[in-house]
Amino acid sequence: MDEIRVRFAPSPTGFLHVGGARTAIFNWLFARNKGGKFLLRIEDTDPERSKSELSAQIIRSMNWLGMEADEPIVYQALNINRHREVVEELLKKSKAYYAFETPEELEAKRKEAASRKVQYKYNRASAELSRETIDKYLSEGKPYAVRFSIPEGRTEFEDIVHGNTVFNNSEIEDFVLMRSDGSPVYQIAVVVDDHDMKISHVIRGDDHLSNTPKQILLYRAMGWEVPQFAHLPMILDEQKKKLSKRRNPVAVEDYKSKGYLSEALFNFLTLLGFAPEDNREIVSKNDLIRMFTFERVNKKSAVFDMKKLDWINSEYIKSADENMIANLVKEKLEDMKLTNESVNLQYVKNVVSLMKERVSTINDFTEFGKYFFEEPSKFDDKGLVKHWNPQIKPVFADYFENLKKSSVWNIEILEKELRDFAVLRNVKAGELIHILRLSLTGMTISPGIFELMKLLGKDKVILRIAGFLEKIN
Ligand code: GLU
Repeated sequence: MDEIRVRFAPSPTGFLHVGGARTAIFNWLFARNKGGKFLLRIEDTDPERSKSELSAQIIRSMNWLGMEADEPIVYQALNINRHREVVEELLKKSKAYYAFETPEELEAKRKEAASRKVQYKYNRASAELSRETIDKYLSEGKPYAVRFSIPEGRTEFEDIVHGNTVFNNSEIEDFVLMRSDGSPVYQIAVVVDDHDMKISHVIRGDDHLSNTPKQILLYRAMGWEVPQFAHLPMILDEQKKKLSKRRNPVAVEDYKSKGYLSEALFNFLTLLGFAPEDNREIVSKNDLIRMFTFERVNKKSAVFDMKKLDWINSEYIKSADENMIANLVKEKLEDMKLTNESVNLQYVKNVVSLMKERVSTINDFTEFGKYFFEEPSKFDDKGLVKHWNPQIKPVFADYFENLKKSSVWNIEILEKELRDFAVLRNVKAGELIHILRLSLTGMTISPGIFELMKLLGKDKVILRIAGFLEKIN
């Protein structure tokens, strides 16, 4: 296999989760680094659990992360006849056999093993049946599954991440290839499709490691070239437990709606198992493509650290194009019904440049900077208790009277006027600023107060302070 061809093969039984996305990213980076092909195969063979809207959702998330497939998407369910054909071929080659046990018989054996506390393994009874018996059962229409006949010996392979890996075949049971209802199982479907798609490298999570010897044996039984395998470390949550849908928000789309940037999430997910050159943590896609090598992929599991994601996202927001960020914030505002004529793109862009150094996500702009887009409806209680004291009240009221008369509304003059006034009345400038901030934002933290006043404009500032004095006094 000269050409590098990799695939991401999600089962559409749920949303694209961050663990799956990480697998996709490593495949994509490897393909891009090698000038190979990145393919997408939707493994939708389970009719009960696979939903077409979930396939669409997976594809949307992949596109959002910037990983489109280089060839038309393969839908595994369309290949079922081909999978059956290969099962037939394995039967003909005597690499597989009919198994006539009923589900009830197998269940009884399983229970019996459990009661003896031994690991259940299929006893190969059907493999011993004579040709006559098999023909008789088949002619009677007795239901059967098809099982793969595991050869004796060991299965050894060089995993690109884990190195030499060996399984004793005696530990692998003669697994089912096709169920009695004629449906092929994952093991055969994945091998046939990977072969037909000329996949050169199978890159997937460590949870598939134990499937690999079974799949290698299938390739060999068919006389097909075996691809290379790379198993990626598991992702753990902060409690060092496997990342789970129950405990963590794991769908890629959730991160999008929480205000993470696609490039930042991509960068963060890559760090789950990949160590960039020079210990860099903020690495562009192009640099990641250039740097990607399995030598930099860890064997040990990686921890999903939300704080790190927030930090990476904040770095991307700081350095991103302000127009791009402003457009994302505006979309959020539209969802929140917070746009009007004065909240136009230029205004949002001004908010972005004021706030971008202090946010972690796009949603932070609308959450912590909501006052830029609507009147504050309440004023922070603790802030009031702390700053709104009897001494400052008359001073602030006088400052407000002066402010109303201000004819020039620019940052330097606003600051100078406030500081001069504070000196004149013998109060600290900070005392006035705290109240100004509370009255204009309802909060005790905000970007620079004079920049904020400039951006809100005189009319709004005067109205808000008046409203504050009316409500609070
Ligand atoms: N469809 C399988 C899954 O979602 C992946 C199969 C593979 O990568 O071999 O876990």
